[in-house]
Amino acid sequence: MKRFFLLSSLALLYLTSCLLLRQQAESKPEPILPTLSPTDPPDFESGLTPEYHGILQELSDASFYSIEFIIADDLVHVSGSEKVIYTNTEEVGLSEIQLRLFPNILGGKMLVENVKVNGNAVTPKYSLNNSLLIIPFEKSLEPKENITLSMVFNITIPQSVELNYGVQAYYDDVLALAHAYPMIAVNDDEGWNVEIPPQTGDLIYADMSFFVVTVDAPKTVTLVGTGREVSSHAERNGSRQKVRYEAGPVRDFYLAASPAYEVFTKEVNGVTLRFYAPDDLQTGAEYALEVAARSLEIFGGRYAPFPYTELEFVSTPTYVLGIEYPGLIAITKWIIEPDNEYLEATIAHEVAHQWFYNLVGNDQLDEPWLDESLTQFATLQYFTDEYGQAGKAGFRADLEDRWSRIGNEIIPVGLPVRDYSDAEYSGIVYGRGALFFEALREKLDEEAFDTFIKSYVQNNAWGIGTTETLRTAAETQCGCDLAYLFEDWIYP
Ligand SMILES: [Zn+2]
Repeated sequence: MKRFFLLSSLALLYLTSCLLLRQQAESKPEPILPTLSPTDPPDFESGLTPEYHGILQELSDASFYSIEFIIADDLVHVSGSEKVIYTNTEEVGLSEIQLRLFPNILGGKMLVENVKVNGNAVTPKYSLNNSLLIIPFEKSLEPKENITLSMVFNITIPQSVELNYGVQAYYDDVLALAHAYPMIAVNDDEGWNVEIPPQTGDLIYADMSFFVVTVDAPKTVTLVGTGREVSSHAERNGSRQKVRYEAGPVRDFYLAASPAYEVFTKEVNGVTLRFYAPDDLQTGAEYALEVAARSLEIFGGRYAPFPYTELEFVSTPTYVLGIEYPGLIAITKWIIEPDNEYLEATIAHEVAHQWFYNLVGNDQLDEPWLDESLTQFATLQYFTDEYGQAGKAGFRADLEDRWSRIGNEIIPVGLPVRDYSDAEYSGIVYGRGALFFEALREKLDEEAFDTFIKSYVQNNAWGIGTTETLRTAAETQCGCDLAYLFEDWIYP
């Protein structure tokens, strides 16, 4: 995901004491039975900028999720159904499929029932503290074959932002619903690549997928979801509303809801920017959209065009400064004011994740540096392009400061999240890792370096990047062996 950096311990204390003053009232609504809704043909092309329309053909084997969320009036109970078409894109047959049930390790609870494969009931197995659903196949699913999975689910949302920064929580009048559906894990050279994510880092390692999501929610809330809200499908009946989103290719589907949201908008080069926040944050939200517009121009020019026709921001009470989702970014409400010292860097950092994490994916648990260190370096490029050498020096000092807080220890940048302490994760992955790219640029020279990042992004767009693909892209540009540089900085 997405984590930028933890607020200072002073700020955390401030947040904790401040937030604890608020009492949460719990109500217990009648359970609502979910139903699978028929799906009209979606229009994914309208969510992509013209240069990316061709990707729809290339990703025709990507998983296709059809999901319905029914959010109870208390905003704490969510029921739903999911139908997903999965194609085996591996070179070997598969005897089972594995899906993540993240609510079960994020402080809430998710129950899955009525699991079917091609319409036939199956008995799934559970693992990793019930955060993994394993569905066996009656016979091997051969390469290029597809299956349809279906299931219903019920989720109880935690009313606290203590776990994983509140990515999934109802708190302070905001429902943040990250990773709240059974999500197919990635099958790579490790097989089904799954683990319980450490609290320090991001949760998600996912392939590009398509989503058609219907949200049935109380009419009192404004909904914000990944992808395009399809207005022709909107319904409002009595106290309820129904909204449909179409998203893809994306790595995840995120939803937020709050009665307090107003929307502030800006257009830039064919992309609509929106910020959802309470109206007392309007000045900060509009300033954030200016920064986002400049970030899109800078990163679009330096790496690859931004792929979507929309980029949205939403204020939430999360413990971290910002969290990236595809085409949608959560920003902690505590920094949304124009003179906040964290706001500009947080917006630039999270926008950069649209290239490093979403467009080029990576295993965020095993190789977090591939998105976080690159994103910090992209933020350095933002400050350089926007403010010249003075801007560069300012943000570079921040990177150096992070590393110096752990005594400039020579800890490798390329470790899995689980091998770092919290302080090391910040100092190495968010500090030293970005400085590695400065060293690499010195080695390659500026022009070759710029071409290297472009080629890394464009050759791995919509797929998964690895440390080795990044190294090869750099070596191709310099025609040199970078083993020693990777030994000094990256490799364990
Ligand atoms: Zn980040």
